[in-house]
Amino acid sequence: MTISRFFAAFMLSLIMSAVLLAQSAPSQSLAALGASGGMADEAKEPKLEHFDPNLADKALDPCSDFYKYACNKWLVANPIPSDQVEWDTGSGLELWNERVLRETLEAASKNDPNRSAVQQKIGDYWAACMDESGIEAAGRKPLQPELDRIAALKSKQEITLEIARLHHLFPGAWEEGDNQSNAPFFGFTGQQDFDDASKVVAFIDQGGLSLPNRDYYLKTDDKSKELLHKYGLHVAKMFVLAGETAAEAAADSRTVIELETAMAQAQMDNVARRDPKNINNKMTLDQVRSLAPSVDWDAYLKAVKAPASEHYIVTSPDFFRAQERLLAEHPLNHWQTYMRWQVIHRAAPYLNKAMVDENFDFFAHTLAGQEEQLPRWRRCVRAADRDLGEALGQAYVDHAFPPESKARTVQMVHAIETALQADIQSLTWMSPATKEQAGIKLKGIEDKIGYPSQWRDYSSVKITRDSYLNNVSRASSFEFERWVAKVGKPVDRTEWGMTPPTINAYYDPQLNTINFPAGILQPPYFDPTKDDAVNFGAIGMIIGHEIIHGFDDEGRKFDAQGNLRDWWTSDDAKQYDERGKCISDEYTQDVPEAGPGVKQNGLLTQGEDTADNGGIHLALNALAATLKQQGESLDDKGADGWTYRQRFFLANAYSWCANERPEIARLAVTTNPHSLPVFRVDNVLSNMPEFQQAFGCKAGQRMVRANACRVW
Ligand SMILES: [Zn+2]
Repeated sequence: MTISRFFAAFMLSLIMSAVLLAQSAPSQSLAALGASGGMADEAKEPKLEHFDPNLADKALDPCSDFYKYACNKWLVANPIPSDQVEWDTGSGLELWNERVLRETLEAASKNDPNRSAVQQKIGDYWAACMDESGIEAAGRKPLQPELDRIAALKSKQEITLEIARLHHLFPGAWEEGDNQSNAPFFGFTGQQDFDDASKVVAFIDQGGLSLPNRDYYLKTDDKSKELLHKYGLHVAKMFVLAGETAAEAAADSRTVIELETAMAQAQMDNVARRDPKNINNKMTLDQVRSLAPSVDWDAYLKAVKAPASEHYIVTSPDFFRAQERLLAEHPLNHWQTYMRWQVIHRAAPYLNKAMVDENFDFFAHTLAGQEEQLPRWRRCVRAADRDLGEALGQAYVDHAFPPESKARTVQMVHAIETALQADIQSLTWMSPATKEQAGIKLKGIEDKIGYPSQWRDYSSVKITRDSYLNNVSRASSFEFERWVAKVGKPVDRTEWGMTPPTINAYYDPQLNTINFPAGILQPPYFDPTKDDAVNFGAIGMIIGHEIIHGFDDEGRKFDAQGNLRDWWTSDDAKQYDERGKCISDEYTQDVPEAGPGVKQNGLLTQGEDTADNGGIHLALNALAATLKQQGESLDDKGADGWTYRQRFFLANAYSWCANERPEIARLAVTTNPHSLPVFRVDNVLSNMPEFQQAFGCKAGQRMVRANACRVW
């Protein structure tokens, strides 16, 4: 399953909480990793996984390691393919979804004069991406105009317009990734104001890096030093591929590392960034100008067509103070080198094989452990989904998401929301005043299921068959300017941050919505052929997870309208923090799966862990209520000999079974606010008496935690 950072929004992904079912290669390389060929998976039909309780390994003890008990047989039978960094029970679905998209793209790429405007866009995009011989023949030529522009800069004052250009040209080059900080120099976009969710204001964010986050530059353990060294070699190789001599490339690589490391040093870390108060720094345009006078803000705002903003939110003023010093200390040619690197690095996935291969070798192989590149068609499907996702997604919805699936999902969502209402009322630690506010927030949640009510209009994006890189750049410019143009306009509540075929889901605290794309409402998460116990255990837990995000340590700071407003009494907030600390202490744990000495930071994952723990309670209670309506109970046995309660927990664990390479596990522990799948099962269930009851686990056994945590 992909990490789905494709959706655009640097602040959205900062505070928007996706369920992130599993990890994937870093986003920059995801769009277009891989080599040609890849006949291996062309021949076989992708297989959707369906839950089967007989997958439980009865030779093992469910009370010792339930993840292993539920997943072992599947894990042994499903090793990681060489072009993947992990393989889980949803991976077959990912391939299945991509095959549906591929058929749509292939049909649209035929030169039929009766093609619709949407078919012309997606079809020609596909044709240009699949044209490997044309791309190979062009070599590094498509880069040259950008490299020439940078070479022609005469003064540091001219850097500003080049930053604006970089933000336009490359996907994600203007946004904060998933707690990454990888916009060149800084990030810029339009985003809802923290204090008044009805307004969109300009956000100016830290940036500057190419590696997944600041730790990769700053940590001093042997493994981190080795990775940074390898990154330096990679940068040099890419400069050579772009036409430099080996000596020039080596010197330029040192400059890039020096500048990026200095910017990493200046960045706020990803734990501090989880508290919206830390990043909610409002400034007037004059204050921005004097904070960072080396950037010509008026020229920048004009170049990106930014409407006037009521104020500017500068997420990390210290970052800009440090960058100001760097701009003064380093000569123009250092910054030209940095910008040249940004162009080469970001364009690499869309260029010739030598560039694609070297980019893959470092960002996917060395950093994430992927052995082989994805076949070209899968890279092109993913890029089309990222760049034209709501054009491509319409056909996916028609093909894969019948109205009955939507109706049954909506029913489950309502049952889970009712369960949370009852849970809030039953809390012994919360005062009536806070309970009332929580109830208002819960009622205010908008449920978005399947696909948007209106599709995005791509008519202004020019797509041709002749240059893949240019198509990507024009789609990227469209997306960047679409976000910037929101500044000063009313908030559009209908928009989606994920495309319909995405296998993921999210809660957006500033809109107070949960969003479930059609792509995840498929087996093994939502399985129309299975009973309620299985579906509440799998997709029900994920629905509960997203709803709980409205009430986790971050989400609870926003009100029903999406404003950053404290609606808690101070006693209740204190009670909450104690329970939250139990969770973050529990998850501050060793992660041997990621290598010796690797430790999870429970403060980084606290929100996701809280959502996992609360989500499964809600799903179980909703299942109990649903069974009761049918005259049944959790402990009744089904035809297969398992109780509904047991099937619920088995289906839940099954939906998380994943084989992962240690490299991607290490990357995830450093950058990802989600725990690894094994902990999303074993930590959660060992906190639950309801689980222990299902399998007769006793005090002292591993799945019965002595200091069990419970927030929701
Ligand atoms: Zn989440």
